[in-house]
Amino acid sequence: MPDYGLPLQFGTFITPTNRQPEAPVALAKLSEQLGFDLVTFQDHPYQPSFLDTWTLMTWVAAQTSTIHIAPNVLNIPLRPPAVTARAAASLDLLSGGRFDLAIGAGGFWDAIDAMGGAHRTPGQGVEALDEAIDVIRGIWAAGDRTPLRIDGEYYHLHGAKRGPAPAHDIPLWIGAIKPRMLRLTGRKGDGWLPSLAYLQPGDYARGNDVIDGAALAAGRDPREIRRMANIGGQFAGSNGGFLVGPSAQWVDDLLPFVLDDGVATFILASDDPATMQRFAEEVAPALREAVLRERASAGTNTATVKRASVLAARRDGIDYDAVPAGVAAIEPGDLGFAGVRSTYMRGGSPGLVLRPADTAQVVEALAFAKRQPVALAVRSGGHGISGRSTNDGGIVIDVGALNAIEILDEASRRIRVGPGARWMDVAAALEPYGWALSSGDYGGVGVGGLATAGGIGYLGRAHGLTIDHLVSAEVVLADGSVVTANADENPDLFWAVRGAGANFGIVTSFEFEVDEVGQVGFAQLAFDATDTAGFLENWGATVEASPRDLTSFLIMGAPRSGQPAVAQLLTVVDSDDPDTIIERLQPLADLAPLLQQSVQLLPYAAVMANASDEPHAGSGEPYSRSGLIEHLTPEFSRAAEAMLASGDVHFFAIRSVGGAVADIAPDATAYAHRSANFSVAALGSNGERLDRVWRELYGHFTGLYLSFDTDQSAERLTDAFPEATLARLRELKSRLDPQNTFRDNFNIV
Ligand SMILES: Cc1cc2nc3c(=O)[nH]c(=O)nc-3n(C[C@H](O)[C@H](O)[C@H](O)COP(=O)(O)OP(=O)(O)OC[C@H]3O[C@@H](n4cnc5c(N)ncnc54)[C@H](O)[C@@H]3O)c2cc1C
Repeated sequence: MPDYGLPLQFGTFITPTNRQPEAPVALAKLSEQLGFDLVTFQDHPYQPSFLDTWTLMTWVAAQTSTIHIAPNVLNIPLRPPAVTARAAASLDLLSGGRFDLAIGAGGFWDAIDAMGGAHRTPGQGVEALDEAIDVIRGIWAAGDRTPLRIDGEYYHLHGAKRGPAPAHDIPLWIGAIKPRMLRLTGRKGDGWLPSLAYLQPGDYARGNDVIDGAALAAGRDPREIRRMANIGGQFAGSNGGFLVGPSAQWVDDLLPFVLDDGVATFILASDDPATMQRFAEEVAPALREAVLRERASAGTNTATVKRASVLAARRDGIDYDAVPAGVAAIEPGDLGFAGVRSTYMRGGSPGLVLRPADTAQVVEALAFAKRQPVALAVRSGGHGISGRSTNDGGIVIDVGALNAIEILDEASRRIRVGPGARWMDVAAALEPYGWALSSGDYGGVGVGGLATAGGIGYLGRAHGLTIDHLVSAEVVLADGSVVTANADENPDLFWAVRGAGANFGIVTSFEFEVDEVGQVGFAQLAFDATDTAGFLENWGATVEASPRDLTSFLIMGAPRSGQPAVAQLLTVVDSDDPDTIIERLQPLADLAPLLQQSVQLLPYAAVMANASDEPHAGSGEPYSRSGLIEHLTPEFSRAAEAMLASGDVHFFAIRSVGGAVADIAPDATAYAHRSANFSVAALGSNGERLDRVWRELYGHFTGLYLSFDTDQSAERLTDAFPEATLARLRELKSRLDPQNTFRDNFNIV
């Protein structure tokens, strides 16, 4: 039987004695210090002289930091599989992905019965374990939103909730000896874990034949199943038989198991620190070296093996085997896929998500993606309203890992931020310096999407758009070159990045000059807006008349029967003086009957700390329409009231702009509609109905901010960019991205 080419792994097998409860823990810590990959404990819950294995593993996990922990093997008849799955996932999460699960059908049936275990005869253990594996994997499949139903002979789950997902893809190793259990290992296991002491010469090879046959019959690659062995021996001065002798003899004894039987994990059963140390220092490295040598000369296939279920979930048109080595890649069948497939607003089903760790990897990822005839999406924080940072069957380059926030120069308040940072993290990093950078109203939004489009934020009227603070950007262009864009280098690109960046490349870092901002006044006021049109008009006029230290955002929803229309105002006053804050807010408070009010003096970072760390779980298609407008005229306000009354809009937001935003010349950045005082957006759940009601508002707008629209049609581009701006963008696009690599987002052609 050939070597399966998997990386070698060494573990220890420690007796969980409770006579000196600290002793197995100390040996586990020693295992970690000595560089073992794994520490394991037998599981005999009926044995009064042993510590309970789960409790011990949890304790050990808390006291170690790198070593993996596993039972050897877990007694499933005494451990209900659904509970085992949750315990395993929990320990994996708590230990940072260090738990591996080896299971067995239990050895001593009279003892299992005595402990109230499942009533079975030993022969039925295989079928029960078979079902248990389905239960365990079913619970771990947290991305599957259907309830888990298993109508087995031994286990019945009638709509169990799934989850949590473990931190890593926990392997399921099976302690098997007899053919039926070996066949189960071949069909469903990730590893075979026998003890060599129970095998006769030739048994390992025979076991491999059974496993491989069952694996192939199930459509699996036999390499998916790691071959393992519990071993025991004694170091001695001279050769005294198998694994009794000097270190060199151990290496000679173990090498054929690797090369002929494919064993890649050896677990040393010993509670003797000296034996553990000698094995770790003399046997393991020498064996690794010998195996490396033999594999090189034999040309053994050592490529990472993917599960058959992962291969089956692959999408057409992507050469998965050519994904650049080193770039983290998540496929549809991978454990982490549920957390990266969708965006905040839109459900997605990409064929591959690449998560580069630095600019060089972004270049590699882009080169790879360009060779695949599928859609390409670029994602930073995944909050794009259009949801174009995911797709169906295409590739997503997710730069979320490029999220560093650095202070470059305190004197000039210059910072560098990665596109994957979120605005709440940026705000938190700047707060100790007494600085802030106006971004938006939601802390979970990513830097990459917002800082390439505009950035209409809570400090906008006082400090301008986010892009107005951009002084330099590093951009990976469609041809793979990495360029700097600022006032001196590539000034055209620098101009374009500030408002139309998504069309020109992947921005891998942003340098901003930020402002001094102390504590701010943050008001959340809710009004009875029964006279919606009157309220909108008066609010608009009040905001326009306010000093620019006030920025106010308005939110309304669909009408609720029997309740007044409610308008919520979220307003920031860039002042730490309570009297100034009250003075600015008073005209707003007088607009209509106040239903609720809260005014706080707090750091800008606290205003932005309003998002969770949950992975995105958007579903379906978002529908949003938007426009930029100079004044909230009576005509516009009446049209907006009628639109809200239709019930076809469930979220209506108006953000004030103007003030410092209008200080910048319209042709200074690709974001050109500087004279607009308001950005308006409406979200509906039905695109056609939303379009119908939006039509009545459309004629009032003078422009569009792309970040709030989902309509990809060509007219939106002419709304977003005045003629001269669009002509300049088109000319630049034809030079920098002639093949239109970056097209899946308001495409400039
Ligand atoms: C709840 C919520 C509140 C919001 N509030 C505001 C607000 O107050 N003010 C405001 O201005 N906007 C706001 N937005 C809109 C938001 O700014 C944009 O949707 C922005 O694009 C999101 O950035 P992201 O990186 O999170 O999005 P992603 O979905 O990751 O990216 C959006 C698009 O930007 C492009 N892109 C992303 N990263 C890069 C990159 N590194 N280089 C080049 N192009 C890239 C891609 O084309 C991508 O499709 C809000 C959005 C949401 C969901």
